[in-house]
Amino acid sequence: MGTSLRTRFLSAAFLLSALHTALAEIDAGPFQDYSSVLVIDTFPTAWQNDLGAWHGAEEGMQAEFGPGYVSLYASQSEQIFHTKVAPTCRDMSEFAGMYLHIAFEGTTQFTISLQQHNEACDQGVSPAPETWDSIEAARYARGNDIYIPIWHFNIDLSRTVAVSFHGFYTQESLRLYKVEITASLPWDFYVPDKLPSGTVVLKCRRPNSFAFGIDDGKPKYAREVMDILEEEGVKVTFFAVGNGLVDPFAPFQQVYREMSERGHQIALHSYSHPRLESLQTKEEIDYQFTENMRVLRETLGLESKYFRPPYGVVGARTRQSFAALVDDPYIVNWSVDIEDWLWAESKTPRKQVDAFRRDLNKGGDLAVLHFLNRSTVRYLRDVINLVRQAGKDIMRVDQCMYDPDAPPIEWAWMRPGNGTQRIGHQNSTIGRNMTAVKEKRWHRDL
Ligand SMILES: [Zn+2]
Repeated sequence: MGTSLRTRFLSAAFLLSALHTALAEIDAGPFQDYSSVLVIDTFPTAWQNDLGAWHGAEEGMQAEFGPGYVSLYASQSEQIFHTKVAPTCRDMSEFAGMYLHIAFEGTTQFTISLQQHNEACDQGVSPAPETWDSIEAARYARGNDIYIPIWHFNIDLSRTVAVSFHGFYTQESLRLYKVEITASLPWDFYVPDKLPSGTVVLKCRRPNSFAFGIDDGKPKYAREVMDILEEEGVKVTFFAVGNGLVDPFAPFQQVYREMSERGHQIALHSYSHPRLESLQTKEEIDYQFTENMRVLRETLGLESKYFRPPYGVVGARTRQSFAALVDDPYIVNWSVDIEDWLWAESKTPRKQVDAFRRDLNKGGDLAVLHFLNRSTVRYLRDVINLVRQAGKDIMRVDQCMYDPDAPPIEWAWMRPGNGTQRIGHQNSTIGRNMTAVKEKRWHRDL
């Protein structure tokens, strides 16, 4: 580069920087906000954000509010802090070409998600929220700022409900000062490419369908489960843990092979059942997927693009890891929780049926349960009948997702008898938290 060219380059850079400083001074606040369009949260009080909507921590995360900030101390990856953009839904489509800006101090080892409410924008309908998309804070953070293009969140912006901070894989704290929408970026701010993050599903897409997603269990109950499903003419999805399939002392391989032969879907549930998002490195997360996939392929000859996260824990790194291995994968959580983790070994195991009915009546159509306990297996027929009484067709998860690769639905089997009278509403009003993410209903499986 010649001297004159370099001089010209330098003077252009100087001019840009002068312009940038001048612009920054125009809307200078405690943080240079680059034309703030919507201030969501500067933490004015402990119970409300700048939009007059709720903000707060869930799943036992410790949050300390100070003047103009909140400090978050997470001890588990499922702990979450929400700041809502409206009491119900907010149409954020007008911001689609803009940026979510977060001014912060502390760790960058967490996930930021934009939450999409259900179609009714109703907290009383399950699931609420319906889905969300996530980015990895560490990839987007520069200094004390994070700018995320809104279009990096693959959700229906017309029913946005909250910005959420979760998936912490550190004990280090995070202090948030500001959450806002800006029209532009600082001129020197580098934003990474959006990495594929799959789709988190908590409900079926096919109208009037219902899917049972059955996670890990005990081999001794597998026979009974298969027999009940056979007698009822029901096909389900089993999410299988990889190390069980290769355990020489447990007959899981025969169990899942037979389930597959009987027409059930076999999908992924990690290799050794950790909270994936809690793992320190991406390599450890990748291993959980690649080994689970390898074992499924080598023992049963199956591939799957469906994954149920252990404990329902999903963060950006987990999603990215799976989406790098499989095209357009589904991360399958649930909108009906039988709460076997809560009631199966209690003195009131029948409450599993009540929990199932409550979520079914709220519109839930994708269930989580296990075959870890005799009582859950005993109630399986009862809950199948509840779904039928609600007039829904039971099928595998891939079938209820309109997956073109799913086997044809056996409609004849799905409609035995003619009792389709809807059961009465028995919705409980017990504390479903305001902004609850369904992933808060952890199954405490082993
Ligand atoms: Zn599990």
